[in-house]
Amino acid sequence: MGKGLRPDIWVSDIYSINLGYLKDIGIKALFFDIDNTLIQYSDHESDDRLDAWLEKVLDEGFGVGFLSNGKDERIFSFAEKVTVKGETLTKHPNFKVTGSARKPLSKGFRKLAGKFNLKKDKVAMVGDQLFTDILGGNWFGCYTILVDPINRDDDHWFVTFKRHFEKPFLKKFKKS
Ligand SMILES: [Mg+2]
Repeated sequence: MGKGLRPDIWVSDIYSINLGYLKDIGIKALFFDIDNTLIQYSDHESDDRLDAWLEKVLDEGFGVGFLSNGKDERIFSFAEKVTVKGETLTKHPNFKVTGSARKPLSKGFRKLAGKFNLKKDKVAMVGDQLFTDILGGNWFGCYTILVDPINRDDDHWFVTFKRHFEKPFLKKFKKS
């Protein structure tokens, strides 16, 4: 049946992700959800801490993918505001985007993995929602990392609705 809604690891935020460990288990690219994983839902900006961390991920040799159910334009306009090595993230050769991903369906995952020319077991999906990011990553067959949402109060009403149904599952899983 696979892993279902259970993430491989659960950490409080992206900055707590152990990149050395991911390297050890053969991960070559990190796919990120955007809203409430990298930035707040209402936020369209990056900040120095996020810029520096994404730069580190790229410097460590990982590909960085943005996998979002949001529209491409919104994703690109956010990615353009991320600065790595003094340049916009969108210019980095190891950065790719798949928007309108329709997570948890596997199609978007496959599409983005294809852009990196990577098999699913070389990919880690990082996101704040069980029913889209984690379930989708598990269906696709990649490694999955759950983070706490940056700001729960800031959620879109539909996300708030879904979080209600995540609660019993989250109770069963333990944060590492
Ligand atoms: Mg999210």
